[in-house]
Amino acid sequence: MGLLSEGSPLSWEETKKWANHVKTNGIEQFINLYKRLKDRQGDSLKWGDEVEYLIVKFDHENKRATVSLRANEMLPILREPENQDPASAKSLWRPEYGAYMVEGTPGCPYGALPVHLNIVEANMKLRRKEAQMLLPPNEMVLSVANFPRLGCPGFTFPEYNPDTSEKGVSMSRFFPDEAIFPGHPRFATLTRNIRSRRGSKIDIQIPVFVDKNTPRPFVEAGVPEQKEDMIYLDAMGFGMGCCCLQVTFQASSIAEALKLYDNLTPLCPIMLALTAATPFYRGYISDVDCRWNIIAASVDCRRPEERSVIRKSRYDSVDTYLSEENSEYNDIPLIYEEPHYQSLITEGGIDKSLAKHIAHLFIRDPVSLFSEKINQDNKKDSDHFENIQSTNWQTMRFKPPPPESSIGWRVEFRPCEVQLTDFENAAVVCFVVLLTRVVLTYNLHFMIPISKVDENMKNAQKRNAIATEKFWFRNDLQNKTASYSLMTVNEIINGKEGFPGLITLIQNYLNSMDVDADTQCTLQQYLCLISRRAKGDVMTAAKWMREFVTSHPKYSQDSVITEEINYDLLQRIATLSENHSSTLLGNIDPNRSKTQDNVPEILTR
Ligand code: GLU
Ligand code: MG
Repeated sequence: MGLLSEGSPLSWEETKKWANHVKTNGIEQFINLYKRLKDRQGDSLKWGDEVEYLIVKFDHENKRATVSLRANEMLPILREPENQDPASAKSLWRPEYGAYMVEGTPGCPYGALPVHLNIVEANMKLRRKEAQMLLPPNEMVLSVANFPRLGCPGFTFPEYNPDTSEKGVSMSRFFPDEAIFPGHPRFATLTRNIRSRRGSKIDIQIPVFVDKNTPRPFVEAGVPEQKEDMIYLDAMGFGMGCCCLQVTFQASSIAEALKLYDNLTPLCPIMLALTAATPFYRGYISDVDCRWNIIAASVDCRRPEERSVIRKSRYDSVDTYLSEENSEYNDIPLIYEEPHYQSLITEGGIDKSLAKHIAHLFIRDPVSLFSEKINQDNKKDSDHFENIQSTNWQTMRFKPPPPESSIGWRVEFRPCEVQLTDFENAAVVCFVVLLTRVVLTYNLHFMIPISKVDENMKNAQKRNAIATEKFWFRNDLQNKTASYSLMTVNEIINGKEGFPGLITLIQNYLNSMDVDADTQCTLQQYLCLISRRAKGDVMTAAKWMREFVTSHPKYSQDSVITEEINYDLLQRIATLSENHSSTLLGNIDPNRSKTQDNVPEILTR
């Protein structure tokens, strides 16, 4: 979830005093970095995925499933190979917000060879196995984007009660502080400081899915904060405790990184709709399919009077394209502190669009600061910059090279929800990677006005958006001045009269490349899944889970996911890799390719 500095965390009262110090020095650190590294060229394409997982415990006798707060004991073991020899580790493991979450990435980045696309899934399988091996027989690592009964009484193992008193970190009615990852102070500190800065508890209201027997109005006894017909959540954990799938790219130069960032930005809402996987919150069926706005509200540190001026939370979709040549599409006025912008321009010689982006990130106060990190050498360190950068969780992230490292300019693609199977996660990752190749090879332009991307983000999260919503998209990706119109996800992915569709562009690209037969076969299955999902032939995880719950014999058509339904759903998900679901995966045999079961040499090096 970002920077893991070591040391003693400061309270919001303390941090507040250093806010300007962190910001001024953070800007200076970025300027120094930029000056030192702006001409860095020739880095090779590298990329990697990040998968976040839940740890789930099954109680077969009582048909209950809970999250297991075991991440802190698993991580030191998972990280042993990396600690012993980082160069030969096959996977890297990091903590995430929940004490019931872990995050895994491949041990080393993938490169430009097509065959690398054929090892993504194998490495995901390996990671799942590595984590699974550490669990007792009744627990499982699942790539489920949100635990359906997160926040229900007794949803954790061991069981804890929430602490609503001032002593509590979240002060939540539902989410005990013990469910926050305890092994690093960042997570609790962010939780406390965001709440303190905001001046009140987190307040998330999600429309409930109204079924035949859902009480109207839908009101929860003893929860006065709940608005009518809404599912009420009151802690950072309800958002940051969700799991996503991210892809990071190293570009050959800063110019290429800006280009990738800008072109991927309009794809964020489309990929969010395609990967929708979070229809359930705190034991209820909601009327949304995606986690996005829930996480945004879960870290919303704005005070009431700031909310009309600052339009979004620290977690939200990006507000601006970065490349100067795309500035015509920046139709949302950005706010920033003029001195920050001026320094970036005059001292840094940074182009206006990028300078505005950085200055705009720096409207946020630091919400996590360690006393040991207050004084830094701005020529060498970048912790103050990273402090603000890593607590701006947006759909895309533009990442400068870290100090003293061989890593180049990078771009992170962050909207996707994690998928239930490794096959689907690999398909999504490879699809995005191939899109970046297509953008760069054919010099495509995906940009539409950024306000239209925001509109798309809103619609992408609606229930069954993939089938019912239309999204602004460019009519011609080659012509720099093309117009845009409303299209369905199916039209965007599979094309329509006069518009080729993204799959065709990728197929053309693959045809022009020397791709070995096995990789070709794997990629065709991935593209087939994406294409069929866009068409509605196979379901998103959100739709599939909704159907599972609403057709469960014990479901009372009252929007409630009972302990038993939750258990059965998670059991079904747990066996997905052996028991194929044709509505979710289509005609794809999960044991189809030999390559996918053996981690090839290339990763074991
Ligand atoms: N889990 C968060 C999400 O679902 C992202 C946290 C991170 O930045 O790694 O978007
Ligand atoms: Mg993460």
